[in-house]
Amino acid sequence: MGWLNDDVALVTGANSGIGLAVVRRFLAEGAKGIGALVRSASGADSLRKEFGDRVAVTVGDVRSPEANAEAVAHTLNAFGKLDTLVGNAGVWDYFAPLRKFADGQQVANTFREVFDINVLGYLLAAYAAAPALRESRGSMIFTLSNAAFYAGGGGPAYVASKHAGVGLIKQLAYELAPDVRVNGVAPGGTVTPLKGPESLGKQGSKLSEIPGFGDAVADAVPLGFIAQPEDHAGHYVLLASRTNSPATTAAILQSDGGWEVRGRPARRPRN
Ligand code: NAD
Repeated sequence: MGWLNDDVALVTGANSGIGLAVVRRFLAEGAKGIGALVRSASGADSLRKEFGDRVAVTVGDVRSPEANAEAVAHTLNAFGKLDTLVGNAGVWDYFAPLRKFADGQQVANTFREVFDINVLGYLLAAYAAAPALRESRGSMIFTLSNAAFYAGGGGPAYVASKHAGVGLIKQLAYELAPDVRVNGVAPGGTVTPLKGPESLGKQGSKLSEIPGFGDAVADAVPLGFIAQPEDHAGHYVLLASRTNSPATTAAILQSDGGWEVRGRPARRPRN
């Protein structure tokens, strides 16, 4: 027994970081099975090794309509229904500011790559999953970011893509009510191997390996630490849970160490 007893979810970008933490937690909360859309065969192998037949893995790119449709079909074949879509696969732009681009063509390429993965990928997953979620009266949950609300969590391409995710959640929540709830989780800096776009030559980079990144995040947020992927997983469970969030749609839970109240009050003098 758990909060997700017998539920079936489909998670994109499920083989690492926040997606993997969500898969682990959903199964621990009693989920019947998890569909996973992952980019590489090695990612698929590691999921099968850890979870066996409790996962139904599809290898594909979230930018492909066919890959998203296949992932939904595979999940339905394996587990008979779909209760929750977790749109999560994403790339970060490594803070690329305007002045760092070589030329306008690189700006355009970066914009397209980041938006195609972070925004179109979510829209295509929503399109593919909506019929099954209407049938189950399930829900969608999208991973956003502190960059969905505030400047400074990336460069213009990433920050704009995550702001776009807010609009996506609101519009889908509006269109799919009353059948399907649509919500988001907005993590702040988290220790994951989050990669960057090829257009910036960052496809092999890992956020967790940026020197000083953990300390910079810890120093920047009121709660004073950088999160681990599992620190966010409970928010996905809460939003997915029909018994605990039946009245919640178009909500985005911030799990970012307190970006809303950044900066510290002046210390009170000690006597
Ligand atoms: P991660 O790299 O571990 O997870 C991202 C996953 O997306 C990977 O499994 C990757 O293979 C997959 N992916 C990327 N492009 C893909 C594509 N074209 N097709 C299929 N899969 C693709 O990093 P993470 O930090 O866990 O990222 C998950 C989400 O969290 C992203 O949406 C990211 O923007 C968001 N986020 C991360 C942080 C952070 O500090 N790590 C902060 C805020 C938000």
